[in-house]
Amino acid sequence: MPRYVLIALAAALLAGCAHRGPPGLDVDTSVTAVSQGSRVRSIVLHYTTLDDVHSLEELSRGKVSAHYLIQENGKTWQLVDENRAAWHAGASAWQGITAMNSTSIGIELVNPGWTPGPDGVAVWRPYDPRQLRSLVLLARDIAQRHGIAPENIVGHSDIAPQRKVDPGPLFPWKWLASQGIGRWYDEAAAAAHLARLQQEPLPGIAWFQAQLQRLGYAAPQTGQADRETSNVLAAFQMHYRPSRHDGQPDAETAAIMLALP
Ligand SMILES: [Zn+2]
Repeated sequence: MPRYVLIALAAALLAGCAHRGPPGLDVDTSVTAVSQGSRVRSIVLHYTTLDDVHSLEELSRGKVSAHYLIQENGKTWQLVDENRAAWHAGASAWQGITAMNSTSIGIELVNPGWTPGPDGVAVWRPYDPRQLRSLVLLARDIAQRHGIAPENIVGHSDIAPQRKVDPGPLFPWKWLASQGIGRWYDEAAAAAHLARLQQEPLPGIAWFQAQLQRLGYAAPQTGQADRETSNVLAAFQMHYRPSRHDGQPDAETAAIMLALP
């Protein structure tokens, strides 16, 4: 028998043999359930605060990790298989889902974050366009394959607002949404809401807390203007109104909230 026929026969036999399992057990995998879905519910974006070499070392050899690491020049590493959990989120919550390491894909961007400027004000580093281009290609593909809703593409600060500020106020959420990635608000609707809100007393802190919760954030629902609420408001503002992210409730923040589905 010619050699190529033997190879074809072996391939056909292997393809028909839908069995797998540990030694001693024959598991039939020839039937696949139609009712199933990805375990991945969200994509969480971070910055590393380290340079290329130290980011790679920390995320591959340290006690934290991420599925992907993108350098400023756009080079992209996969460090953890998407079917496995990476240790990137820590204590976290979004849309009522907690401990998000087990349900999310983590993407780390090389970026130093902020450094204190001469006047003591934080100076943030802009993201490199080459890095953002890689991020768009990667995030689009992940979101498509796992069926991730736009509102579930979030920053570390969105899911852990009491502890984290990454990816920071210079992360271009609006531009990313224009590329089809993540949630953004209806700007015309926000302008109309703002015009009306400016004629009225500002809604109370309980209103802001309820809106934050509606939009996915783990926010206190106490009616008290406390430090925790201010941290969540600051996280919201960094994402949707980065020009001022002081954690104070204001009319523009309220208008944006109302313009988000
Ligand atoms: Zn982070």
